[in-house]
Amino acid sequence: MMEHAIRQNVENIRQRIAAAAARSGRRAADVRLMAVTKTVDDQRILAAIAAGVDIIGENYVQEAKRKIELMGRPQEWHLIGHLQTNKAKYAVKLFDMIHSVDRMDVALELNGRAAKEGRLIKILVEVNISGEATKRGIDGEEASGLVKEVSHLEHLSIQGLMTMAPWFDDPEEARPCFAALRSLRDRIAEAGIPGVTMGELSMGMSGDFEIAVEEGATIIRIGRSLFGERPVKEGTPT
Ligand SMILES: *Cc1c(COP(=O)(O)O)cnc(C)c1O
Repeated sequence: MMEHAIRQNVENIRQRIAAAAARSGRRAADVRLMAVTKTVDDQRILAAIAAGVDIIGENYVQEAKRKIELMGRPQEWHLIGHLQTNKAKYAVKLFDMIHSVDRMDVALELNGRAAKEGRLIKILVEVNISGEATKRGIDGEEASGLVKEVSHLEHLSIQGLMTMAPWFDDPEEARPCFAALRSLRDRIAEAGIPGVTMGELSMGMSGDFEIAVEEGATIIRIGRSLFGERPVKEGTPT
């Protein structure tokens, strides 16, 4: 039963992606669906993989290590959570893409570890586009400077930008955030920094992904609409 419900949720989200893409003259195939698995048990994650999600998104490096050993790599694994420098060593071995690079020291640590592994790691720069104090990410005005600095690191490949919009009752209110991330992406792309491709926009979650798709998202990160509400843990950011 549970497998069936998750499969239906995936289908429902795919249809909503397709409709939003059509409204904005985009192709649904250009939007990848990430299942965000924090607090979700292994059986339900496996059901999402079986239902054909494109990416599994992990908040914690240690959890990802265990899950990848268990579930393998039928799809990509991306890190979306905050990265501590002491976890960079594992992160470069595990992930196909890291969405949460927002400081040069983290980039330097990743680059050094990736060099040791002989890998080129795809990364996104996380931007605090709303300027909310509680949100992680680099300020919008500083993002292109960070991209330029990181572009010199030989083992990191910048693929685009990521953001988390603030939570609104009406998702339409998140639209200016998504539009701002897209225009920031366009401006950085126009600068033509060697080694930087700006194809990816990781934005949109359960409450606002259709608006994000309309504004150009290429990866949407979905937890609750796939797996149901998360248990509320005191003092833990969700
Ligand atoms: C939890 C989380 C999501 C998914 O949020 P939902 O509202 O459950 O879809 C997306 N991105 C990040 C970075 C998250 O931590």
